[in-house]
Amino acid sequence: MNYIGIDLGGTRIKIGLVNKEGVADKVVIDAESDKGLETYLPLIDKGILKLMKKSKLSSLSGIGMAFPGVVNPKSKKILSTNKKYDDGPEIDLHSYYSKKWSTPFFIDNDSRMATVGEWKYGAGKDSNDLVMVTLGTGVGTGVVMEGNLLRGKHFKAGCLGGHFVVNYQGKVCTCGNIGCVEAEAATWNIDQQLREHTDFSCSVLSGIDKIDFAAVFMATEDKLAIKMQEHCLEVWSAGVISYINAYDPEVVVLGGGVLNSAAKIVPHIRKKISENVWTPWGETSLRLTKLWDNAAILGTVYSLRNNI
Ligand SMILES: [Zn+2]
Repeated sequence: MNYIGIDLGGTRIKIGLVNKEGVADKVVIDAESDKGLETYLPLIDKGILKLMKKSKLSSLSGIGMAFPGVVNPKSKKILSTNKKYDDGPEIDLHSYYSKKWSTPFFIDNDSRMATVGEWKYGAGKDSNDLVMVTLGTGVGTGVVMEGNLLRGKHFKAGCLGGHFVVNYQGKVCTCGNIGCVEAEAATWNIDQQLREHTDFSCSVLSGIDKIDFAAVFMATEDKLAIKMQEHCLEVWSAGVISYINAYDPEVVVLGGGVLNSAAKIVPHIRKKISENVWTPWGETSLRLTKLWDNAAILGTVYSLRNNI
């Protein structure tokens, strides 16, 4: 078996060659998702070809894609996007990949697929009740309840945890709502949030061109950075507590690029779960991703192979 898993991130497209052993090889393409998906299809094809050539493969068993938006995996159509690859719903990916590569094609939401990866191969392997939270450009979630991957009638269920409201008087979100988890604390607007702050000019962060969470969590002596750290930790904790109340998991797995600062993030959220969540059956286990960038690649290939 030789499958391709494609994870379309906001800033990086990861293409993995998956065999029996797991992700055997990978190509990463820098991307600007506001340029649309069509722009990147030839580059993705090049990446696939490169992986096949390197491993001397003449054919593939299938191609799976993890997409940052609402996806119908039955019709293999992107239904709705939110400022990432916005031309997605107009492209017939199924016929594109079937014609180009003569191979089965599968597509689903990226965070949902990362959840399948962690459930089958990673930090949630021992549980059939888990929530995965991806903290990155945006905030994504995925849910497995009693061994079933949650999708819902309109394919929105479980994957829109980034749009749970944590502050109804908060910041305007790209989804049209106010005070969503990802409007309050995600990479897409952290730079802007800091620049708009009255203390910004006195902060060490003002010397950085594009501020990300790594910079915020590294500035341990800076007043504004500490304030922002505290704000974001509270936002993510509130989100995770809502997910636990909504989905009744035994395990919550945290992943995504922001978790490179895991040493500060995981203990805080763990403490909040311990103090604030109502779980009379026991305590939800909070874990760090085991698969990192490979989670959605492995998840989409698993879903394609096992038809889930
Ligand atoms: Zn939102």
